[in-house]
Amino acid sequence: METQTPTPFTVIPNRRPATDEERWIAMEDPVFGKVFTDHMARATWRDGHGWADRRIVPLAPLPLHPGAAVLHYAQQAFEGLKAYRHEDGSVWLFRPEANAARLAASCRRMALPEVSEEDFLAALEALIAADHAWVPGTPGSSLYLRPLVIATEASLLVQPAAEVDFIVTASPVGAYMAAPGGVSIWVSRGYHRANAGGTGDTKTAGNYAASMLPQAEAKAHGCQQVLFLDAREDTYVEELGGMNLVAVRADGSILTPRLTGTILPGVTRDSILTLLRDEGRAVEERDIALTELVEGIESGEILELFACGTAAVVTPIARLVSDDLDVTVRGAGEGGSVADAVLARLTDLQYGRGEDAHGWMRRV
Ligand code: PMP
Repeated sequence: METQTPTPFTVIPNRRPATDEERWIAMEDPVFGKVFTDHMARATWRDGHGWADRRIVPLAPLPLHPGAAVLHYAQQAFEGLKAYRHEDGSVWLFRPEANAARLAASCRRMALPEVSEEDFLAALEALIAADHAWVPGTPGSSLYLRPLVIATEASLLVQPAAEVDFIVTASPVGAYMAAPGGVSIWVSRGYHRANAGGTGDTKTAGNYAASMLPQAEAKAHGCQQVLFLDAREDTYVEELGGMNLVAVRADGSILTPRLTGTILPGVTRDSILTLLRDEGRAVEERDIALTELVEGIESGEILELFACGTAAVVTPIARLVSDDLDVTVRGAGEGGSVADAVLARLTDLQYGRGEDAHGWMRRV
């Protein structure tokens, strides 16, 4: 890892930013990830020189050589986190250090240069300062931040690129509307997401490219999300296409797949498990066979299932569906559910309404 003192991000302001009216219209009911702010953060790495040219620049398409390694071999890594506006107008990030650490781990796996925590935080802070007006203040809304590291070197050799860019874009996002009564989940039997030694615990493009066909299969079966089983034994539940999975037992204890190396270690997952442990609940992280999950749901031993992640926060699951399977989860979407309670605790914290006992919030 390089040791260098990060220089501040130089700001080159957008001379044609959105007008107040354009911004208000864009922010009124944004489709997730379709609206972008006026600026982006950017830094460039060259082999032998390290990271340089830290800058905030007007958001614009990238001039990218068609031979850029990222386009051919998907040498890239990314992150997703949110900035929240509190009632007093201040703006806060939730556990950005955790996303910085996960991006560094993803970069290592993808043979990309690591972005230091200092650069990661400095980029987010400088971008949010430039696009402060884009942080929404309506209930449940936030500014979604997308840090991205891409291999830009024009080279068709399959080898780590000598030129890499770090880019952060920002998108205002509205309150996530959970499906009333919970979502239906398609358990993929034909496709797996990750294998041991692969990139399942890495936030990198290929995982998501490979999930689109099973996700389309889920849609075709009337389901909103796909759940993957482990590739080795085709037995244990792992995670959804973009969220982790949590079960609540009738005795109030929590059961969730352990981090096997083939599952993305979600920041929301970790935060929720911590909050549930704080409440005195037993939390078990282990291998969970699909049959165990289904039998637990059918017998009533498992009362709730929910998915968790930055984008949708906490989403109750109402049904598990597959070729040979259709079970309904009893407690989904009911008042007084653990999913509802933990969602409220987490979002109270993020929006500055709850005590930050773990020091998770960082003012920007
Ligand atoms: N699993 C996958 C595959 C994901 O893409 C995400 C979203 N980053 C998650 C889980 C949840 O992670 P987080 O809580 O950090 O958003």
